[in-house]
Amino acid sequence: MTFLAIMLRFLIILFLLIYILYRLLWKDNRNRNQRTKGQKSIRNEEMVKDPVCGTYVSLDLAIPAKKEGRTYHFCSKECRNKFLKDPTQDA
Ligand SMILES: [Zn+2]
Repeated sequence: MTFLAIMLRFLIILFLLIYILYRLLWKDNRNRNQRTKGQKSIRNEEMVKDPVCGTYVSLDLAIPAKKEGRTYHFCSKECRNKFLKDPTQDA
């Protein structure tokens, strides 16, 4: 009888430990997935075209420049400088 009671208690503790570990790991994984998904959706939200070289850049990575009231986006500072210096690019 005492052996059974000890075994039962041991099993209950073991089950609880597994349950707690499982919950902790599951929660951690879910949070990590949500975070990466959120970042991806923000990154891929909007693509803008560089008018100088024609490359598509995501809006948060693009370099903005204002010209004649319009905002343009560029893949690099080189492209932006080229665009701002060269009036023929503004079509
Ligand atoms: Zn460019």
